[in-house]
Amino acid sequence: MDKTVGILGGGQLGRMLAAAASLLNINVVILDVGDNGPAKQVVAPTSPRLAHIDGAFTDPVKIRELADKVDVLTVEIEHVDAGVLDEVQARLPLGVHPSPATIRVIQDKYVQKQHLAAHGCPLGEFIAVDATQESVRAAADKLGLPLMLKSRTLAYDGRGNFVIRDLAQIDEALSALGNRPLYAEKWVPFVKEIAVMVVRSSAGEVVSYPVVETVHKDNICHLVFAPFRSRDASVSARARQIAETAVQTLHGAGVFGVEMFLLENGSVYLNEIAPRPHNSGHYTIEACETSQYENHLRAILGLPLGSTALKVPSSAMLNLIGASDSMDEVTAVAQAALGVPGASVHLYGKAACRKGRKMGHITLVAPSDAALRARLRPLLAALPPSSS
Ligand code: ATP
Ligand code: MG
Ligand code: MG
Repeated sequence: MDKTVGILGGGQLGRMLAAAASLLNINVVILDVGDNGPAKQVVAPTSPRLAHIDGAFTDPVKIRELADKVDVLTVEIEHVDAGVLDEVQARLPLGVHPSPATIRVIQDKYVQKQHLAAHGCPLGEFIAVDATQESVRAAADKLGLPLMLKSRTLAYDGRGNFVIRDLAQIDEALSALGNRPLYAEKWVPFVKEIAVMVVRSSAGEVVSYPVVETVHKDNICHLVFAPFRSRDASVSARARQIAETAVQTLHGAGVFGVEMFLLENGSVYLNEIAPRPHNSGHYTIEACETSQYENHLRAILGLPLGSTALKVPSSAMLNLIGASDSMDEVTAVAQAALGVPGASVHLYGKAACRKGRKMGHITLVAPSDAALRARLRPLLAALPPSSS
């Protein structure tokens, strides 16, 4: 395990990757702005040569500097410069994972949808649009209202999405999404959102974690329930199959977060894929035999993958989202969790709290769904009124 992993980005996903790496004595070098972000806080360099790098994960000079120190490069965010990753790939003993080609496909959501459609993956309808009144109106004529207008690039937590419910909103939508390249999706009247974490080994073996239900609020993941429960037992098997098949169309090793919609008639559509550990997989740290973070490291280092099975009957993950510029509301929920059996508190050590920012999460495990609900209740009660 005497290997060094370079990570582009040093937020909470990098922090949890670094924590998993420390258990296997894998060295980690982080590239991000500042000396003390969430990931850098938890892993001290093992030698001066492996010092973390202060710089933007989008800066080609800094990416090359990182590549010179490590055996393999990976990312905690897909909004990176795929061209520079292409360039450094050849001189890295274990390469770049996910592959730069995969990052390029995924980081443009319209190209991602085209790719998935070309490979026969089930998707809602989508269409290219220009940032003009006429083009968006034509898309609404074709796909109907509400219309989901989306930025093709740099999207996260729904920032980049605009729901057009009335044609009179087109100007507002265009100004909200600015000068970004756009596309539109037909509204998917889903009954549930579900997700599957998929891992691909460097040898190309693909395995998946159990299906989870994700509950979003204001476009941000709020709660995750694992495993997903459904009267129709075929849903989970189909969702895992769809997720694994979709990941098989992409290249490179590592973990992929596959977001999906479940429709009233039982069909499952893909929403989008993240080429990295994912918020909907945080629960795996406490609830599965191998966490998504450890399996990501195993995959990119060519080590055998670990079991993805649940090791508890029931689990949930509650995101701790900033309610204001103060940490007080987040701290109150974390405090409440300290008194709940089966609750594990994760605080990310971010320098400042902001409304809508992910500041931490709590994982709950329980011997039954009923016990899980009972354990969740005091946590939901401790949330600030606007977000419970
Ligand atoms: P993430 O933080 O997961 O990367 P994102 O900014 O890329 O999010 P999406 O996943 O595209 O955004 O959409 C955010 C949420 O908006 C989805 O989880 C879903 O609740 C809703 N949504 C997205 N597309 C559609 C659609 N076509 N029809 C209905 N709802 C949608
Ligand atoms: Mg996204
Ligand atoms: Mg999403």
